[in-house]
Amino acid sequence: MKCSHFFDFLISHAKIYGFIFPSSEIYGGLNAVYDYGPHGVELKNNIKEFWWKSMTQLHENIVGVDSSILMHSDVWRASGHIDEFNELLIDNKDSKKRYRPEILIQEYVEKNFSNDPKKKEKILSRLHQSLKKKDWIDLKTLIDELSICDPICKTKNWTKIRHFNMMFRIKNKKDLFLRPETAQGIFSNFQNIIKSTRMKIPFGIAQIGKSFRNEIFARKFIFRMREFEQMEMQFFILPEEEIKWYEYWKKIRLKWHLELNLGYREHYKLCNHNHLAHYASAGSDIEFHFPFGFQEIEGIHSRRDFDLKNHEFFSKKKLRVFESFFESERNYIPYVIETSLGLDRLFLAILSSSLKKEKLKNDKTRVVLKLPYHLSPIKAAILPLVKKDGLPEIAKKIFNDIRIHHRLVYDQKATIGKLYRRQDAIGTPFCFTVDYDTIETDTVTMRNRDSMEQKRIHIKEISQIIEKETGLKKVLKKLSYFI
Ligand code: ATP
Repeated sequence: MKCSHFFDFLISHAKIYGFIFPSSEIYGGLNAVYDYGPHGVELKNNIKEFWWKSMTQLHENIVGVDSSILMHSDVWRASGHIDEFNELLIDNKDSKKRYRPEILIQEYVEKNFSNDPKKKEKILSRLHQSLKKKDWIDLKTLIDELSICDPICKTKNWTKIRHFNMMFRIKNKKDLFLRPETAQGIFSNFQNIIKSTRMKIPFGIAQIGKSFRNEIFARKFIFRMREFEQMEMQFFILPEEEIKWYEYWKKIRLKWHLELNLGYREHYKLCNHNHLAHYASAGSDIEFHFPFGFQEIEGIHSRRDFDLKNHEFFSKKKLRVFESFFESERNYIPYVIETSLGLDRLFLAILSSSLKKEKLKNDKTRVVLKLPYHLSPIKAAILPLVKKDGLPEIAKKIFNDIRIHHRLVYDQKATIGKLYRRQDAIGTPFCFTVDYDTIETDTVTMRNRDSMEQKRIHIKEISQIIEKETGLKKVLKKLSYFI
């Protein structure tokens, strides 16, 4: 299937099967804002649980926090977001559309020079030089020299390149912003967390929460949104151990992604960040091969003491650690290594690598969502073969007996073939079917989503099998060997 067709198919599948809906759809929708439906929220919660436990349960020196979205406006002065959290923009005077110039150039190069690596490299290197030197005039010259047209109206009638602050300011409350990253809720609670937990350097603080950015060119479904969720962890270290921990977290985070098993190792890249955010002194991206190409899914940055130092200055409160080793004492601002993962981007990576159209032996096709078992919204379906002869009652009893342990569904609304297809489409790893033999032998048919193989098992085994095959424990155990 062509990439753009596949992406349309994915968006439609996500809507039909209750994963993702356009926000406020009955009013025509809201650009770059989406809602998660009944299966979407379960999948999202499972992803969060996996990340949260990997961080806070597997690392004894990482604790969590859940800070507010609204914060004192001085937080954003200190963090540099009011002055520095800008994107470049360029308008096309004919289409009246707004673009990020660096993305216009990157996409143009990808489209026109993917078979000419030398030329591609030359243009991208000039782009990075201009960004590094903040030379916006050269950036505009590059757009003109390459004769880049507006993708919509195809004209080259461009304005100058300008800056645009990406924070959402709350109307009527001039000094309040919706947070553009969750990290500042961690820095501003630094002393509270040290005092309440007695953590010692090195230690980390993890947080999952909503962030908001007024993206100029929000698109690609849930890849770039104006309201999104981040899973961030700030790891506080001795300044002289910056390189050691930066390398450690790059390795651990890549390992975590690979453990999700979303296809091949070649679907991931670890790249150095060419264009660093204002707070970072070093940065790498983990990129994933989305249906539209390689793009950032997670950033790992060294923020050094940028944030704590500035918060100390603005708040006039000491944000240091005091340590005494035998004879010597030390009072210092720790450095920080940050890992910042976009939950929605990970959701899209998981959905796009799991959705398959398969040809079956009888020449029919099936649509199946081959999600990692531990992330599936529903772990198993309990189904009666027919809606009569006492089979629904037996199936309902099995369902009621074990539903406190697992996220299950009971369904009798269609023929068994259709019920299987529906469970395939939402990614349910196992179906257990009650048939006439169940009455005699207390056994059911267990059907596997991926192989479609069926075998008979005893009713008593169902719960154990679901736990063993779909529980988080197995994956966490594997990960724990690397930490
Ligand atoms: P990009 O270069 O794609 O704009 P970024 O470098 O600005 O991303 P960070 O500030 O490092 O992103 O944010 C950390 C993570 O948050 C990103 O790796 C991404 O997964 C996620 N993220 C950032 N912006 C968005 C957005 N607008 N929509 C969805 N996820 C986002």
